[in-house]
Amino acid sequence: MSTWTPSSWSSKPIAQPVEYPDQEHLNSVLAKINILPPLVTPAEIERLRHQLAAVQRNEAFLLHAGDCAESFDACTQENISAKIGLILSFSLILIWGAHLPVVRIGRIAGQYAKPRSKPTETIGGEQVLNFRGDNVNGLDPNDRTPDPERLLSAYFHSAATLNYIRGLLTSGFASLHHPRDWSLSHVRSPSIRRKFESITEGLADALDFSRTIGSDLGRECSYERGGGRGVLGQVDFFTSHEALMLDYEQAMTRKFPLTGEDVRPPSDGFYNTSAHFLWVGDRTRQVDGAHVEYFRGIRNPIGIKVGPSLGCEELTRLLDVVNPDKEPGRVTLITRYGATKVRDHLPGHIQAVTSSGHPVAWICDPMHGNTVTSASGLKTRNFGTIIRELISCTTIHSECGSRLGGVSLEFTGEFNEAGFSVTECLGGSMELSEDQLELRYHSFCDPRLNFEQALDVAFIVSNYFKE
Ligand code: PEP
Ligand code: MN
Repeated sequence: MSTWTPSSWSSKPIAQPVEYPDQEHLNSVLAKINILPPLVTPAEIERLRHQLAAVQRNEAFLLHAGDCAESFDACTQENISAKIGLILSFSLILIWGAHLPVVRIGRIAGQYAKPRSKPTETIGGEQVLNFRGDNVNGLDPNDRTPDPERLLSAYFHSAATLNYIRGLLTSGFASLHHPRDWSLSHVRSPSIRRKFESITEGLADALDFSRTIGSDLGRECSYERGGGRGVLGQVDFFTSHEALMLDYEQAMTRKFPLTGEDVRPPSDGFYNTSAHFLWVGDRTRQVDGAHVEYFRGIRNPIGIKVGPSLGCEELTRLLDVVNPDKEPGRVTLITRYGATKVRDHLPGHIQAVTSSGHPVAWICDPMHGNTVTSASGLKTRNFGTIIRELISCTTIHSECGSRLGGVSLEFTGEFNEAGFSVTECLGGSMELSEDQLELRYHSFCDPRLNFEQALDVAFIVSNYFKE
């Protein structure tokens, strides 16, 4: 295979390309991004690799969650704390119910770019470029020309988001003594409130007891078994995004000495310092394409979206390319077939990976294969279908002698001033109906589970893993 460099992707065919009208302008912005400080550090990235290796050994559960796409306007105190609060609440239910440590990776602090099924769309009878995410162009149909300054803005919005997350987590926000700070007061469903309160009450008793006997259960309940303080303070929390805009990813890729006793002789590694975890999307994972070329050279743990169009042989070839030494913790496969297709594809994929000997974590994304259009024309997802794909995944893994290692979800903890959550997905314990979808449909991308619906999923998953 030819030599990898941070820019070797540029000689390969690229899917989902973005054409900038002014190349010099793009280059000057990229040069600026290239000298800005890393957003995350190699030590944090290596720590996540270790934790994902634990997920592969079935010793921990991975929760990958957040918005489909972040927007610059949504970079606010309320939104960030609501997202982190929901991720913490979700993981607390899993830790408590399933007795497994949870590795938390947010789709946050950089999840701006979006792949599209078509490059253009028709608005008011006119053909315009599609919206490609806030780091490329604007949602406003008059603002669709890609602007390189948006990449720089993405860096600063990511930095502001990450800074606030680090601040929250080092200021006691994640303390298991105060889980109510995570905004449960807004949850209207009496049954979810009761279930969550029984966990937090049980937890409070356990914390009092552990304080009495001098141990620290709070640390056990967060992912602390590997020792040391969490990456972003008291608990570990990692960031991720789809590495779609390779110009930006390249500018954030830096060389650092590799650490660890197993590194002999001393050598260097290239780290993408814009996020701890990067994934390659279902539309950009061509084995000979630019995105896979970029992914094969970075040290970060990576995700690969696996949909129905991926052949078994292609999947193992991909694994050979991105992880030739079969290193643990490096690859997470995020399956997203759709509830009606999972049985047709997952068993073959599991069998192919098992016989290849590649270590992977299998994660179920029950969102992206289950998007439908409502009668009124809104993109939505049905809670029941989401759960069906999730349950099928767990069953099929057991049948194939494998195990589901986690979930990848699109959800939001946002509430409006009156305390109401978004209405983008149907069903759940709140039984959201089609005629309610329009009430608070805020997503400008894919429909997200709201706070209550997300906690419904957490209880179902945690019950499953209890068994
Ligand atoms: C996504 O995760 O938002 C996404 C676009 O997924 P996929 O590449 O699996 O379609
Ligand atoms: Mn999405």
